[in-house]
Amino acid sequence: MAKYIDPKCRLCRREGEKLYLKGARCFSPKCPIEKKGAQMPGQHGKKRTRGRISGYGIQLREKQKAKRLYGVLENQFHHYYETAIKTRGNTAEVLVQFLESRLDNICYRLGFTISRSLARQLVTHGNILVDGQKVDVPSFQTKPGMVVSLPDAAAKFDFVAPNLIEKNPPAKWLSRVGTQGKIDRLPTREEIGSDMKTNLIIEFYSR
Ligand code: SF4
Repeated sequence: MAKYIDPKCRLCRREGEKLYLKGARCFSPKCPIEKKGAQMPGQHGKKRTRGRISGYGIQLREKQKAKRLYGVLENQFHHYYETAIKTRGNTAEVLVQFLESRLDNICYRLGFTISRSLARQLVTHGNILVDGQKVDVPSFQTKPGMVVSLPDAAAKFDFVAPNLIEKNPPAKWLSRVGTQGKIDRLPTREEIGSDMKTNLIIEFYSR
């Protein structure tokens, strides 16, 4: 199971916006973007400007941003696209649904953690149950009707417990009571629209 292990803040700085990849630090003044602005990464980042960007460049950046948001590497992201074009329905919407149905994303959207990377950690360490069975694969595709829950021990973790007590509502297509969440339906493209311009990603791959 491949994973990006280099500094995460670098990814936000490259995209020029906060992608909230690190948990609590992202909401604190320690975030490099809060401190220095969206300066490009690297030794000469201060001097680098974004300049004018071509149509291809805009599509590429949108694809990179989506991969980084969901913590997915290129091969797997491309696989989601390939599967989406073979699936009945609107390709952009199906692609969004594949990404949103990943188990790590569902844990994040249910409000168990404040970032997808912490949700991924919860899953890989075997702290998530799907329909009562332990699942430790972050890319596991959930389906409507499935129940995703936290065992009692995991609900006491420092990075989980406050989220369960504070008002941290799940996404509209999910429901949660205490440590138990349910996937009521798949999300629509509009519900994710502000996070991701899927049409640009489809145009990128279909060139
Ligand atoms: Fe991005 Fe979070 Fe790092 Fe800020 S602290 S640059 S939001 S990963």
